[in-house]
Amino acid sequence: MGFTKKGEQIARELVRKHRLWEVFFHDVLGLKEFNEMADSVEHDSNENVEESLCDFLDHPQQCPDGKPIPRGACCGRRFRRKTGWGLFQRMDIKRLCDVEKGTRARVVCLREKFFSRFSSFGIIPGFIIYVKEIFPGFIIKVDHTEIALDRQLCCEILVQVLHQQQDT
Ligand SMILES: [Zn+2]
Ligand SMILES: [Zn+2]
Repeated sequence: MGFTKKGEQIARELVRKHRLWEVFFHDVLGLKEFNEMADSVEHDSNENVEESLCDFLDHPQQCPDGKPIPRGACCGRRFRRKTGWGLFQRMDIKRLCDVEKGTRARVVCLREKFFSRFSSFGIIPGFIIYVKEIFPGFIIKVDHTEIALDRQLCCEILVQVLHQQQDT
């Protein structure tokens, strides 16, 4: 039946995306929350991102939990390994210290040693932040709280730029 086949295909793609992202967050970023992180991005990523991700990770066959990753069209081909920053650029993922004033962004990940410090400010993966000022220091708005961070510390946070607008 066409419908069943299509449903199977969609489920397979979703499993594939989820497990690829798990590998990324676990192996590349060293996050313990790899499963939650994969949940938060898998629905946003399109086919191109999935293929680049798979290529970047060198076409892994298992997720960190040891479950198989369904093969994609890319997995049979012999691609040259791209750098992670290429993928990040396509997803508009930047270090917080590199974004412009007026940017609204989603926190993607933090360096682990700063995790408790940032999370006490409400800077937590998946949360939306607003960059109110970048000079002389960064002023980040999380909900209605403003936090002053020095530039150095902002380089330890990766964010996905959502859009730029003036705060009103
Ligand atoms: Zn898994
Ligand atoms: Zn692949």
